[in-house]
Amino acid sequence: MCKIATLFLCGTITLHKEYVILARKESSRMANRVLIIGAGGVGRVVAFKCAQHRDIFNEITFASRTKAKCDAIVSDIYAKGFSEPIRTAAVDADNVSELVALINNVKPNLVIHVALPYQDLTIMDACLETGVHYLDTANYEHPDNPHFCYAPQWKYHERFEKAGLLALLGSGFDPGVTNVYVAHAKKHHFNRMDTVDIIDCNAGDHGYPFATNFNPEINIREVTAKGRYYENGAWHETEPLSVKKVFDFPDGIGPKDMYLLYHEEMESLVKHFPEVRRMRFWMTFGQSYLTHLKVLENVGMTRIDPVMYEGREIVPLQFLKHMLPDPASLGPRTKGKTCIGCWITGKAKPPSVSPYYVYNVCDHEECYAETGAQAVSFTTGVPAALGAKLILSGQWSGCGVFNMEQFDPDPFMAEIGGWGLPWAETFPTHDEIGIVS
Ligand code: NDP
Repeated sequence: MCKIATLFLCGTITLHKEYVILARKESSRMANRVLIIGAGGVGRVVAFKCAQHRDIFNEITFASRTKAKCDAIVSDIYAKGFSEPIRTAAVDADNVSELVALINNVKPNLVIHVALPYQDLTIMDACLETGVHYLDTANYEHPDNPHFCYAPQWKYHERFEKAGLLALLGSGFDPGVTNVYVAHAKKHHFNRMDTVDIIDCNAGDHGYPFATNFNPEINIREVTAKGRYYENGAWHETEPLSVKKVFDFPDGIGPKDMYLLYHEEMESLVKHFPEVRRMRFWMTFGQSYLTHLKVLENVGMTRIDPVMYEGREIVPLQFLKHMLPDPASLGPRTKGKTCIGCWITGKAKPPSVSPYYVYNVCDHEECYAETGAQAVSFTTGVPAALGAKLILSGQWSGCGVFNMEQFDPDPFMAEIGGWGLPWAETFPTHDEIGIVS
């Protein structure tokens, strides 16, 4: 949390805001209160992790559009023996005044937003109005426009700074842990980073011919968009899923096809590490997923503009979401592992050498046994909860809007393994893991 002294360094704040923030700080001396918004797969994991760390998250309120979903998750948490009470509430996070009323009632120190990217700005507005810190896992996206970028949220920097508040953006895995991996590489292994490849592999199998591991609408919008990578100071566009390589993954996962996509963390990473000459993001997809996606696209089912159907408007992608398995239901069926990491080259700091690879491997079944969620939700929810801890403990502090790589990576890297996402680092040679084509 910002220290009171820091509040004054952060600029002028209105008396009202000052009073609200100081009052929050006064109450925070007694207890850390968090408000988690969004009871999907990621919200489930965040709620579990907060419940496992009650020394930090003294009071927890869990809210979502459908209160029953929060109640169901909370009863699973109690059933695992974490019996300290968790309050639940209904909220429409598209509605700022509803959010403000809930925040004023709960009086949290921090809102952990794990609903959808569509709600980023309304929740940031509500946090500013009530004097509360903010954290999310995905950058803002307008429901009618699949283009996403940090600009709308970075525009809040001055307002958060003046209010003496911290907004932490993208505290999931990618974005999130991947940003911290790059900051860690720069701090400990490289004098200069030349290339960064972020590589996301889900080698899990849920047994369905086609399903998405997180919100289908958000996932399909991301995958069907044009690819984009950064090289020599400019962004270069590629046709969707048109650039493919094979990567030989560690821990027995083996070689997989991966495709170049645009991903949001690249935008903040090239801003904060301007030395990087080329940055790319890769994600693995199985052939069944790609074939289904192509057919759905060809018949218009991935469109996000409304079409008339039997006298009323429907959005094909929203209808498709309705027909697909709920990602939260994939947990008990999914077997296998995820492996997400960063492959970095450049001028290494001896004794480190280039290339350098830092990654996490996560087992779907182990995640499910612990939290009732599969690894994609787990790998997002754990860093959200740890980011929240680092803010509440003051280990990450500041006033304004920040991306993960702007903070010291050391406390995060020291703790993330204990929270469930251990990492490994290697300096691979050509005949080990790595890019094979
Ligand atoms: P889900 O779709 O499973 O869950 C979203 C939850 O938010 C649902 O409970 C939904 O409620 C709730 N919600 C939606 N709209 C509102 C609203 N207006 N008001 C209140 N609650 C609302 O998503 P996930 O859990 O899979 O993902 C959560 C977030 O994490 C997303 O933003 C996603 O983009 C992000 N993410 C980030 C990753 C990373 O590595 N950084 C990776 C994966 C996901 P209801 O059920 O009633 O509709």
